[in-house]
Parts: sequence; structure tokens; C-alpha cells
Amino acid sequence: MQENHQSYRRTVEFKPGARNLFFHILTACNLSCRHCYINKDQHGGNMLNMEDIRTWLRVFHGGRVEETNVIFLGGEPTLHPQLPEAVRAARELGYSSVTIDTNGFLFHDLLVRLSPAELDYLSFSLDGSCPQVNDSIRGEGVFDVCTRNIQRAVRAGFAVSSIFTVSRMNLGDLPNMPALLHGLGVRRFFIQVVGIRGNSGRMTKCTQGVELQVARRDWENVVPEVARHAASLGIHVTFPKVFLDVSEPFQCAGLVADNYFVFPNGRVYRCPLCEDYAIHSMEICDGELRKRPPITERELFPLNIPEGCVFNRILQHGNISYDASGVPVNKIACCMLKEEIVPLPKN
Ligand code: SF4
Ligand code: SF4
Repeated sequence: MQENHQSYRRTVEFKPGARNLFFHILTACNLSCRHCYINKDQHGGNMLNMEDIRTWLRVFHGGRVEETNVIFLGGEPTLHPQLPEAVRAARELGYSSVTIDTNGFLFHDLLVRLSPAELDYLSFSLDGSCPQVNDSIRGEGVFDVCTRNIQRAVRAGFAVSSIFTVSRMNLGDLPNMPALLHGLGVRRFFIQVVGIRGNSGRMTKCTQGVELQVARRDWENVVPEVARHAASLGIHVTFPKVFLDVSEPFQCAGLVADNYFVFPNGRVYRCPLCEDYAIHSMEICDGELRKRPPITERELFPLNIPEGCVFNRILQHGNISYDASGVPVNKIACCMLKEEIVPLPKN
């Protein structure tokens, strides 16, 4: 188990020119996770057909296909019977990378109908290192199905990553994840922080997320150390920056990056925190991407406030602390700003 890789840590700056398409091809799911961010009232309940998927893939590469990454999402994207065709369509168009995020159930024989060469990453969501923790969030029996299918995918030659959504429900179990993932053969580990939207938003409507969100000290005591441990085992780890010192520069991805969060009802957001509200910047109508008139999320991105991210301040400010004179003691970074710990190959 002790691989002892050397590693380096860095902030992943927003890369000029890079585009990321977070493509929700349906919203249906076989699970009902406690923190699920899907909100069918806002995102619709339809499943895109192959013709629309092809058209939308063409729309979103914006002529810069070789710089565009696509991540197929749901709901549970493997419930879409033509997901392999959608992956191939993105490949044929020349997308820079193609990833599928799955809850682990891998419907419609995905591992048989897709070859490892066609996919950059198959990413499994696991929110605990054991059934007790994971299944209390994601549902009974899910841990066993997900870990079994991770092993099948690794054996079949797919590059497998795993996503862990941190909240107060599972922060204490995070240190157990590196050993589990190493044993399963997972190559990349994405730690993300719970967003107060969808189910989490409903659970915490009056409290701005204070029951779910992790305090700065708890986050900093646990997450970087877990990331270092995973990297020492040879796993590439990415985690959100979340907290900035007041002197650190703040940037809003809505202004400086090219991210598109696309839902099957045609809504297109530039910021994932806004997804519970009809303030999307753009929408797809008749196969074309159109800007929506104000007021949308777009008008709010330039607001410069001492707390950093404006939507965090409006929607989920339970993670901001103030000093006695009412000045924030830290800023909240853009939720898209990440740090990574990259293991170096052993000599
Ligand atoms: S979080 Fe993902 S896997 Fe869980 S219910 Fe929502 S869409 Fe399904
Ligand atoms: S999370 Fe905050 S900083 Fe990031 S895109 Fe949204 S509004 Fe901007």
C-alpha cells in the first residue's frame, strides 16, 4: 500500500481559451442522493435525442473544438441508451477530451458498448469509503454496486476517476478514501464541496447551508492532508480552493473562463451555483445558442464584494465568517477554482 510517490501542489488557474461543456443529456436518475443538485422544476425532465445531442455538441465547441472538453452528466447519463453514440459523436467532432460522470450503475452495458480508447475518464461518484457512510447519503446498496463496477471498469482498461462530495455528513470519513481508491485502481480523485442547491437547497432553505457546509478550519485540517496521502499513493487529486485570504486575488469564472452548464430543457448557465434559478445567461432555441436579456447571472458576475463570490454570498453564505466589525475574515473563491496535487512518477 505504501507507494510513497513525491508530488507537487498547485492552484489550477483558469486557462485562457479552454472551454468546458458540462452536458446534462437527461435529468432522470435511479438514485435519490440526499445532496442531489438536480432540480427538475428548473432543468426539465426530458431526455435529449441523438439528433439534439449532435447539434448541441456542434453548437458548444464554438469553432474551437480542439480546446473543448465535454463531460456527460445527468441525472444518470448511462440511463441514456445512446450514450456510447454521444461519446463517439464528440470524438468525431474532435473534442479535446470526453468524460462520463456516473453514479456507478453503468446501465445499458456501457463497458461492453464503449472501448477504453473512446473515453478519457469514466468518473464514479462515491461519498464514503464504506456502505455505512456512502449509503447513508446515496442509498442502500449503492456502495457495493459502485465499487464492483469500478473494479470491472479498471479490469476492462478504462481510466477511472472518482468524485467525493464533501459535506458535514462525510468529512470525517474522507481520510479513509485514498486507501480504498488505491486498492480499486482509481487514477484520479476529485474532491468537491457540497453546493447548496437542489435537495441540499431544500434541506437548508432557512439556514444558508450551515448544517451541510464545512467550516474553513475543518476543511483545511482535513482536505489537503487527504489529498497529499492520495498523491503519495500515485493518485492525481483535484480539490476546490474554497477559501481565500483577503489578500489573495479573486476571479469569477463567469468572467474569465468558458464553462457551459447545459440542461436538457435548453437552459445554459455559466455558473453552477445559479442552477436553481431562472437566471441562466443563455438558452438553446431551435438548435441555436441565444443570449438572454438582462437580468441574468451575467449581470451579477462583475459585482465586486469583499466576500468574493457574489452567488455564494447571496445563496449559501453559511461558510463566510466576519470579524467583530463586520469585515469578512476570508473570501470565498469561485467554485470552479481548483488546486491539484500531482504525483510524480517513481524513479
Ligand atoms: S446526485 Fe447524481 S446520482 Fe445522486 S440522485 Fe442526483 S443525479 Fe442521481
Ligand atoms: S461560483 Fe461565484 S465566482 Fe464562480 S462563476 Fe459563480 S458567481 Fe462567479
